[in-house]
Amino acid sequence: LRVQLLKSEKFSIVSELAASVAHEVRNPLTVVRGFIQLIGSENRDPKEKEYVKLVLSELDRAQEIITDYLNLAKHQHFDKTQINLSTLLTEIENIMISYANYKNVQICSEIAPSLTIYGDQSRLKQVFINLIKNAIEAVPESGGNVMIKAYSSHDVVRIKIQDNGNGMSEEQLERLGEPFFTLKERGTGLGLTVTFSIVENHLGSIRFQSALKKGTTATVTLPSYIEKIEKEEAIR
Ligand code: ADP
Ligand code: MG
Repeated sequence: LRVQLLKSEKFSIVSELAASVAHEVRNPLTVVRGFIQLIGSENRDPKEKEYVKLVLSELDRAQEIITDYLNLAKHQHFDKTQINLSTLLTEIENIMISYANYKNVQICSEIAPSLTIYGDQSRLKQVFINLIKNAIEAVPESGGNVMIKAYSSHDVVRIKIQDNGNGMSEEQLERLGEPFFTLKERGTGLGLTVTFSIVENHLGSIRFQSALKKGTTATVTLPSYIEKIEKEEAIR
């Protein structure tokens, strides 16, 4: 079993400029998508329909890449509050079930109740969606399992996303989080870059344990909310 710790240096490569350009490009794309959809809804021969479908799917892919870029912006605002992580994870599990079904993957979870952290709800949601999505995409055609575990341990909360997929070599593990590193035909290679930067912003860490052909476990560690309050009291 291989273990790899990931460092923060990898996060800072893609610039904020890219994010602002991405933001500008989003609007015309939305307009184009609308009109293409309109064209596609008219009576068309099958070949034209096929082309419209292709254009739409490529537009959606561009949209996805842009969203990942936007999330890379370094000095973006994080809207942090006290969060019930148990509720959030259950919600995320429900969101991911349809994607898992589509990929013939079983999702199950063991989530301790009332896990509380301090953070940005929508960004943390993205962290877990990215990790679960990768887990689902890593498993073979049939017999895929993804397990979500969450529990508190001393002054931290740990969330484990475990899959029985392809696993990764040491070289692959080392490249995780590097912008544009992907082994997927249609991957952006930005998912984990975004994920790491969000977790880092929350003073947390991610560790990957992986074995080829056996599977991967991603472990996210975040400070628990109680700890934060205690620390603040200690400072006062
Ligand atoms: P993308 O999913 O677009 O490829 P990511 O940054 O999310 O980009 O992931 C980068 C790469 O890391 C993936 O292409 C894949 O090779 C590898 N990876 C990530 N998670 C897993 C996993 N659970 N099992 C195996 N490989 C993984
Ligand atoms: Mg991904």
